[in-house]
Amino acid sequence: MSKNVLVLADVRDGELRNVTLECLAAGTTAAEGGTITVAVFGSNGKDLVEKLAHFGADQVLLVTNSELDQYSTDAFFQAFKAVIDKVNPDVILTGHTAVGRDVSPRIAARLDIGMVSDCTAVALTEGRLTFTRPIYAGKAFVKKAFKEGAVLATLRPNNIPALEKDTGLSATVEELTVELPADSIRTLVKELVRKASEGVDLSEARIIVSGGRGVKSSEGFKPLQELADVLGAAVGASRGACDADYCDYALQIGQTGKVVTPDLYIACGISGAIQHLAGMSNSKVIVAINKDPEASIFSVADYGIVGDLFEVVPMLTEEFKKL
Ligand code: FAD
Repeated sequence: MSKNVLVLADVRDGELRNVTLECLAAGTTAAEGGTITVAVFGSNGKDLVEKLAHFGADQVLLVTNSELDQYSTDAFFQAFKAVIDKVNPDVILTGHTAVGRDVSPRIAARLDIGMVSDCTAVALTEGRLTFTRPIYAGKAFVKKAFKEGAVLATLRPNNIPALEKDTGLSATVEELTVELPADSIRTLVKELVRKASEGVDLSEARIIVSGGRGVKSSEGFKPLQELADVLGAAVGASRGACDADYCDYALQIGQTGKVVTPDLYIACGISGAIQHLAGMSNSKVIVAINKDPEASIFSVADYGIVGDLFEVVPMLTEEFKKL
């Protein structure tokens, strides 16, 4: 039965985040031939219309209120709700990003609809829309289907491949005016302070070079950064490295840090504690560099290098430079 699907776009600094294209791909599965609407928030939404249309949206709703250029829970909640009231969707999809994680439960509770968060797959199983999500810190997966009513799902970035760009596709575009009275927005963003993660965004990175306590100092991250630069990768870290003040907590990957699923994860001087694995063990290919052959990280690694990271990492950098 065809469904009405709404994708809530995730835009950061005027750029569309990849997870929105991944939501559109999941949307084509969920819609079963129905309509896919994508809503874009913020004053430069017009610039993104073409891209959204080429990746499967039938309709683009532009909510161009400048209050939405920066995230605040109150403003986005009202804007999302206004779009949902207009579209009346059966399925709502958005990224499992900082915005999606913050506002989605509030929407689901207010609308009294089902919600499933952090999904890694969306499929039609025996005619039912099924959402897969990890449980027990990534050790198992559960599949959820809803008996009735609308459903809101947040999708983990980097899991559902975006559709191939199709320039033959087009979408209708509509502007939606949403009133956001100043007194309805109870928080004021005075300043945005960016932490450490210059360059490639960790949660959307295709390649991550990650360092643990084995890097021994903040200086020790330099060879990792050099390798990351050559590979176009992001740099991540274990909590051990963050706790030791070798790097900022913004880089932490794991149960209490970011959950990542890159194509390639290179773990350098990380022992592989269960809490770290919870954040990276679903990476497509894992390479571990550790001088201890018994380190637990090797149990999840596709390729293991037993050796000193300060010798191995520069060697890898030199080899990748030749490619
Ligand atoms: P270590 O365990 O000290 O390992 C360092 C590794 O480096 C060793 O295996 C060693 O052999 C290797 N090494 C040393 N020198 C070299 C060298 N020159 N070359 C190559 N290898 C070398 N951890 C996280 O990462 N993320 C989380 O989100 C997280 N959440 C947690 C939540 C809770 C509630 C708790 C209790 C813990 C959490 N932890 C988390 C901490 C976790 O249990 C580990 O303590 C932490 O992951 C260890 O970090 P590490 O692997 O860098 O350090």
